[in-house]
Amino acid sequence: MSFAATVCTLYPDMFPGPLGISLAGRARDEGKWSIDTVQIRDFATDKHRTVDDTPAGGGAGMVLKVDVLARAIDHARENGPADRPVIAMTPRGKPLTQARVRELADGPGVILLCGRFEGYDERIFAGRAVEEVCIGDIVLSGGEPAALMLLDACIRLLPGVMGAASSGDEESFESGLLEYPQYTRPTQWEGATIPEVLRSGDHGKIAAWRKQQAVDHTRSRRPDLWERYCDARGLSASDAQRGK
Ligand code: SAH
Repeated sequence: MSFAATVCTLYPDMFPGPLGISLAGRARDEGKWSIDTVQIRDFATDKHRTVDDTPAGGGAGMVLKVDVLARAIDHARENGPADRPVIAMTPRGKPLTQARVRELADGPGVILLCGRFEGYDERIFAGRAVEEVCIGDIVLSGGEPAALMLLDACIRLLPGVMGAASSGDEESFESGLLEYPQYTRPTQWEGATIPEVLRSGDHGKIAAWRKQQAVDHTRSRRPDLWERYCDARGLSASDAQRGK
């Protein structure tokens, strides 16, 4: 069974975009995943094909209409594998995690909803069981680049898409820690060298060094991840820091 993505958007031309080339593009050619788009505007009913309206209560911008969105989602649901989660890209959503990406990649696919303007009429989320997902504490002009990110993260995890080399669980976030730093030849570059330990051939020492680097980087750059890492292992921060 291949992973089926349906993207509801006002800009279908943005897809597959970057997902049509390189790793994702090849995987798509091989039938490991598929994508189609639903033009939200096709589900407007008035002669101007209106998809948005002014915010109730006043204020700047325009809001995507709940009735139009609902028809677009219903259409996507009826024209693809059943039981796909519907996910709206929104800065008000729950931050996307690698764990959620893994769950999605293990499933039948996703229906993604891309916002524009000020976003969606709030009633769509409960009305169509829509999960709200945020891809970072930044504001984009539309949900399309966020949808591309989510799909990219899922596609690389699909069976047979990535070589064994990079599919391990040592990557950033997979182990709960950021990855250790990487180096490759040349050994000397503009006065900067590759850490001695990595050239020692001592696999035990290398593993210990990498673990400590991962711990140090996570602690200093991502205290939020670090706290979760310690909590998940029932460790006090000082135990965990010593690599226990
Ligand atoms: N007024 C909204 C922002 C709308 S941005 C607010 O303050 O929450 C327009 C659209 O871009 C959103 O509907 C959403 O689909 C997309 N978008 C912007 N930033 C995003 C983010 N960090 N994650 C996911 N989608 C985002």
